[in-house]
Amino acid sequence: MEKAIAFQNLEKSFGSLKVLQGVTGEIDKGEVTAIIGSSGCGKSTLLRCFNRLEAINGGSLTVNNIDLSRPNLNYKQLRQLRTQVGMVFQQFNLFPHLSVLENLTLAPRQVLGKTQKESAQLAGTYLDKVGLFDKASAYPEQLSGGQKQRVAIARSLCMNPQIMLFDEPTSALDPELVGEVLQVMQQLAADGMTMVVVTHEMQFAREVANRAIFLNKGKIEEQGNAREILTNPESDRLRTFLSRLN
Ligand code: ADP
Ligand code: MG
Repeated sequence: MEKAIAFQNLEKSFGSLKVLQGVTGEIDKGEVTAIIGSSGCGKSTLLRCFNRLEAINGGSLTVNNIDLSRPNLNYKQLRQLRTQVGMVFQQFNLFPHLSVLENLTLAPRQVLGKTQKESAQLAGTYLDKVGLFDKASAYPEQLSGGQKQRVAIARSLCMNPQIMLFDEPTSALDPELVGEVLQVMQQLAADGMTMVVVTHEMQFAREVANRAIFLNKGKIEEQGNAREILTNPESDRLRTFLSRLN
């Protein structure tokens, strides 16, 4: 299986705080990987290393054949990485002063150099995919949290990414809105998108993810087939973590 992301002994510190203490793993192309673990264990930091929102301090990291181990990337490589790797955040991060359509067409026009017409067509395709074609002229404040997150996913897809990173995409949502976002993500997975998802939604992780990585205090405590390790964990720590969630 071809690797989308590979990391060996990856280290990341903030000052004297060693957040990632030598983690090793691989993300296969076309697979969904769930990253789970308690608050503060380093999940977001690991995800942010994957698109260079954070630079690593040690070890190696390759994303889509781009070597992120070096301290300095040139502008072209960084741009390539940012277009190939999409990210969806807990707080949606939509531009509040732009309509849904404008949120979706901005980057394709400015970064990919597409025309207004091309980017509007692209936006239409992906809004349709997330079930929000009729909201193109709405503004973010007019949408529910679930709709905002679906717009954020569609916006990412407009860049035609090879990999999608999700950092707790449903954690800010009212419980009744979680399902519609997970459903869009499940569809994306079925379409073959390579996805890395930080989540506390264990049912989603078990049923949709192929692999799971359990982080504990900056180290990988257990990783493997998602259904297996989330149903029959080997380590006591993962067992305890899972029992606390239920
Ligand atoms: P998680 O996503 O698993 O909750 P994070 O990766 O956000 O954890 O954070 C791991 C640790 O790193 C925490 O102790 C957090 O306070 C710290 N941390 C994260 N980002 C920064 C930063 N930019 N500066 C300093 N400390 C940070
Ligand atoms: Mg986090």
